Amino acid sequence: MKHSKQGTERATADSGRRAHTKERPHSLETRTEQVLTGESIGVGVAIGPAFVVREDPAPDLRERLSSLDRDEEEGRFRDAVIRSISQLGKLQARLALLPEDSQFEIGSLLDVYRRMLGPSRLQRGVIRRIAEGLSAEVAVFEETEALAQASHPPQGARAGSGEDAAAARRRADEFREIGRRLLRNLTRTPFLTLRGMPDGAILVTESLRPSDAALIDPSRVAAVVSEEGGATGHTAIMLRALGIPAVLAVAGALDAVAGGAQVVVDGDRGRIVVDPAHDTLVEARGAVATYAQDRQKLGRMRRLSSKLASGEKVLLQANLELPAELPLIAQSGAAGIGLLRTEFLFINSEELPDETTQFELYASLVEAMGADTTTIRVLDWGGEKPSEALERAGLSTLGETPNPALGLRGIRLLLKHPALLETQLAAILRASAVGPLQVLLPMVTVAEEITAARDIYERVARRLRRKGVALAETLPPFGAMIETPAAALTAGVLAHHADFLAIGTNDLTMYALAADRASADAASLYDARHPAVLRMIADVVNAALQHRTPVSLCGEIAGDPALAPLLVGLGLRSLSMTASAVPRVKQVIRSVRYEECVRLGRRVLAETDSRAIMKVLQEFGNAEVG
Ligand code: PEP
Ligand code: MG
Repeated sequence: MKHSKQGTERATADSGRRAHTKERPHSLETRTEQVLTGESIGVGVAIGPAFVVREDPAPDLRERLSSLDRDEEEGRFRDAVIRSISQLGKLQARLALLPEDSQFEIGSLLDVYRRMLGPSRLQRGVIRRIAEGLSAEVAVFEETEALAQASHPPQGARAGSGEDAAAARRRADEFREIGRRLLRNLTRTPFLTLRGMPDGAILVTESLRPSDAALIDPSRVAAVVSEEGGATGHTAIMLRALGIPAVLAVAGALDAVAGGAQVVVDGDRGRIVVDPAHDTLVEARGAVATYAQDRQKLGRMRRLSSKLASGEKVLLQANLELPAELPLIAQSGAAGIGLLRTEFLFINSEELPDETTQFELYASLVEAMGADTTTIRVLDWGGEKPSEALERAGLSTLGETPNPALGLRGIRLLLKHPALLETQLAAILRASAVGPLQVLLPMVTVAEEITAARDIYERVARRLRRKGVALAETLPPFGAMIETPAAALTAGVLAHHADFLAIGTNDLTMYALAADRASADAASLYDARHPAVLRMIADVVNAALQHRTPVSLCGEIAGDPALAPLLVGLGLRSLSMTASAVPRVKQVIRSVRYEECVRLGRRVLAETDSRAIMKVLQEFGNAEVG
């Protein structure tokens, strides 16, 4: 039956809900579509059945007031902290799925949470309250609420300038969020659960925290509608990054949407339509198709070669932080894995992964890459990422060192505990029988670190061969990351000892500019386009070329299409990036000529500050588009 578009639009009496209805006089069931509006977060349109989730009620804090064994309460609190840290680690591992700016944004938020869980004022406050006789739950609640109120007093809503007040509010929210996480872990109350949700459904919920959003599988959830939240919050960023259409701050959504009702979510216009009329549905289907076509266009890039317009080849590979990203790599058209971060094996597990567990994982990835190389970086752990496994094995320095980024990080930790390195190298060497791979050392600052690690590498290879284990005929290339100024300034020496170099601009920028890569406070200082960083990149590339040592770049800037011509102009021919960035970078690579890139490189290196460099890059970009 064909429905006409003669329906009448009218506002509901409850205008506070910002809802209106459109009746369909020709419908036999006289169903009425209902439109609710909220904050748009983009990412297109979705249609599907509603899956309405109400949060479990918050735990009753009075319940445990009678349990006052202080040691027991403190122990329970410490357990909840460890569980919370491990959950945040899992969320961190999911970040790799997100585009660069969202990774940064959400990563800094997770970092704030982790710092709160470390030896912080919060922790001291909770323990003091427990010592005063409170249960762990009440102590956590009171301490986080006190900290939240100190950051943003209730009457402070009207005080302070807009930005300052918003920052204070965010800070207060952060304390409350970490308090809720601790309380849920103390009382073992489950977090948002999507169990029983049919694939392709629209999740309708009261509130969605960034940590919950991060765990949503975009291939299963068609869209999200939430009563709380806003377009610029972390949840919105997370959903946008995952490509999930969503409308947040939809007042009254839970009352208006019945489970199973058909819903159109228009993430671009910030509205949802419940029980849509026929014409609304037709229009929505058109929008879904257009959006899919746009994505398809970019997808076609996958099959095109990665060459400059003047013909020179540029190798574009993917960084992989989680095995779950493997399908993304295949879709992106990346030519192999330029950086396999192996931290996830250690962060998300309670036990240290043994040789066989590691071998199976590396072998499966190497096999999936076929003839393309997989670069496996050995554990880069340095205390700033919580790891229950390392904690239990007594190898963690978390909380003990005032400055984890400057402590026993990366290769330093591995050389201090060589058994860790031996196990990992043995697993990698065994996987070398499956296909091409390379080994990469993180955080190198002196050549001796490479030679010491190589000694272990060769010794492990000899042992495996003696035992008759199959390995690649020639030992896989053994490379070093250049991510400290010390390594960059002595790149020639390192190039002599390593089979290849990989420039890690994320850390190189941090160490060169003395600006924490994950701190919101230092965000305005942290800029890989700083002349100091760009000059170091140029020098490393030159040193590597002189020694005929292959060199690549695998920091986040490799995935920035606006920087790709510059990196080529500085001499790089191999870039490794977040998988989702590959098509756009390839598009730019295919549009520029080598001479232009070299000229751009020279112009940029002649500049003395980031702002001027940004201007040169912008002019170059505009000229390219124009
Ligand atoms: C880097 O530092 O640029 C890098 C690629 O390593 P990670 O981001 O894992 O520290
Ligand atoms: Mg690094």
